[in-house]
Amino acid sequence: MTVSSTEVTGRFAPTPSGPLHFGSLVTAVASYCQAKSQNGRWLLRIEDLDTPRVVKDSADNILRTLEGFGFNWDGQVVYQSQRFEAYEEALQQLQSDGLLYRCQCSRKSLMSQDLQYGPLGMIYPGHCRGLHLNNKNLSLRLDTEPAKTQRFNDIHYGPYTLNISTDVGDIVLKRIDGVYAYHLAVVLDDAWQGVNQIVRGADLLEVTCLHLYINRLLKLEAAQYLHIPLIKNSEGKKLSKQTGAPPISIERAREQLVQSLKLLGQPITDDLISARPEQILEYACRHWQAAAIPKIR
Ligand code: GLU
Ligand code: ZN
Repeated sequence: MTVSSTEVTGRFAPTPSGPLHFGSLVTAVASYCQAKSQNGRWLLRIEDLDTPRVVKDSADNILRTLEGFGFNWDGQVVYQSQRFEAYEEALQQLQSDGLLYRCQCSRKSLMSQDLQYGPLGMIYPGHCRGLHLNNKNLSLRLDTEPAKTQRFNDIHYGPYTLNISTDVGDIVLKRIDGVYAYHLAVVLDDAWQGVNQIVRGADLLEVTCLHLYINRLLKLEAAQYLHIPLIKNSEGKKLSKQTGAPPISIERAREQLVQSLKLLGQPITDDLISARPEQILEYACRHWQAAAIPKIR
């Protein structure tokens, strides 16, 4: 298949650390409709980067669940566990640009200090930046001192700005245990797969500035972003594996698809619940209005 450079390409990128829950379904639906409503492609990427956290059979379970919900992805499924060479190559590029350094700080030693916190969490105080450590068994950090303000315009939430050096600080791109950082992998994979419209949960809104910064350092093509409101549980916490969100089930696919579309503000009629999952999605793509998604975070 030849792909024109202007073809909209979206993706869904679940982490196989357990079954899909309702929050992930809403993201899948939104990214699918956004791409398919523009006659685009919708790719699937399994983010099995953090091998120790991967739950056996979880990726296959996710694929079967998506099929049962009527999703059709384009092309081959990409697995991050097959992409380590590309991540290593990018690290070498950053290294030769003088942007990486080894860091020996443990989480524990950092936690015992008086640290500053930014929108992405702890801001690393730069202890190891000038130390020129060269033990290969240390983590690798990105030196963000030369970084300036990174802006982007979210399709849904509008403009967003972060000062990478002061709000984020030097981040780990390869952990001490050899695991590549999500921030590195996501940027490389989206560019490599030709993804140009990324739809994902608003918990990743701030981090997008960092992704665009890394993207720029690696001289890659940048995508557009559309973040969607997070689905919360009755205690107001984001639905996630950590907050014990129950898995979605194929037996309830129609009902859960309709519920997702309603939460996304889409014009859905209740009789749609008697259609097959594929038909519900097809209807949703035909009537999709990104502007109708609620603006709450
Ligand atoms: N793998 C991430 C998750 O499951 C999604 C990352 C992204 O969409 O950029 O939360
Ligand atoms: Zn350090």
